[in-house]
Amino acid sequence: MHVLVLGAGQLARMMSLAGAPLNLTLTAYDVTTNRVVHPLTQATTPQTLEQAIADSDVITAEFEHIPDDILATCEKSGKFFPTSQAIKAGGDRRIEKALLDDAGVKNATYAIIHTRADFEQAIDTVGIPMVLKTALGGYDGKGQWRLKDRAQADAIWKEMQACLDDAKQQAIVAEQFVPFQREVSLVGARNANGDIETYPLAENIHVDGVLSLSTAIDAPDLQLQAETMFAAVAKRLDYVGVLALEFFDVNGELLVNEIAPRVHNSGHWTQQGAEVCQFENHLRAVCHLPLGSTKLVRETAMINILGEDSLPPELMAMEGCHIHWYGKSQRPGRKMGHINLTADYPGQLQRKLCEIANYLDKQAFPAVHRLAKDIQD
Ligand code: AMP
Repeated sequence: MHVLVLGAGQLARMMSLAGAPLNLTLTAYDVTTNRVVHPLTQATTPQTLEQAIADSDVITAEFEHIPDDILATCEKSGKFFPTSQAIKAGGDRRIEKALLDDAGVKNATYAIIHTRADFEQAIDTVGIPMVLKTALGGYDGKGQWRLKDRAQADAIWKEMQACLDDAKQQAIVAEQFVPFQREVSLVGARNANGDIETYPLAENIHVDGVLSLSTAIDAPDLQLQAETMFAAVAKRLDYVGVLALEFFDVNGELLVNEIAPRVHNSGHWTQQGAEVCQFENHLRAVCHLPLGSTKLVRETAMINILGEDSLPPELMAMEGCHIHWYGKSQRPGRKMGHINLTADYPGQLQRKLCEIANYLDKQAFPAVHRLAKDIQD
């Protein structure tokens, strides 16, 4: 089978690698340059998008910021999974919030802001402290403000107004600041029959809004809550493919922060840690093949490589250390690759995280260093 992926980044690359053993071949459409490319080499093919759609058996997406006309064309072909509605829910926080409410899933209290009067009203209804996020185009903590004090309102409004003026469809979502203990996420797959397979929860550490470290955890209580919410959202969207839900853990109670209608960075650990990884399971779901087992096969932590294009060679010799580069040119803070670190039992994983910290730069990998220090203290 041949799959066309909208988006040509690392997620399409890893999907392509996971599909090869099943004879699933992939091409990717780079939405920013309007080119059909090979997902591994990035070599441009002579195809137009229309030709790529005609030549594919299935079309899917690796990111949610896809222009409406492209989504509509793909959906019209009858080959697109999940639905454009699901992609839009991931790309517009207003649609996402309405979806979570419709699905009866707990999320932070919010208000939608278009005008200064809306902002004032949100300050009263949502309260301070408050997190403000652009409805469109925000990711990895970008397009966000924190209102901690009423005195900041004028300055923040100025910046938000500039964003609202920039794009006609833009709005701001004001959210109650959630005093969470930790952030976790659930990645799972749903097929066209409505069958669902979910991976163990991952605990996620972000630095400056960007995921830094993800570790698969065994937390039966939270897992049950997360799976219930996952099923509600996936059913509501009649979802086919891999879906990720990010949560705040507030004293053992989960609130959804956001959803990603695609394979997710916090699911990269499944490449080494689960029976069948998220990339293969996404392809299985959208190609209408049986879903694979999501069982944890070894303790795994995933470390994002941000802005670095090389690692000490000792890491390659370390047992349980698996390096995945994305073939990108270096830019500060850019997601360049990740490391999956595996172990036979939780204590050993902690020991290996301490060991790997010795080889990783303190500035580039602050979360690993902080964790190693906590473990050693
Ligand atoms: P997001 O892009 O919505 O995932 O936000 C990036 C990060 O900001 C999250 O991973 C949280 O650490 C933090 N954050 C987002 N929304 C809230 C909130 N309502 N309360 C507290 N922290 C938040």
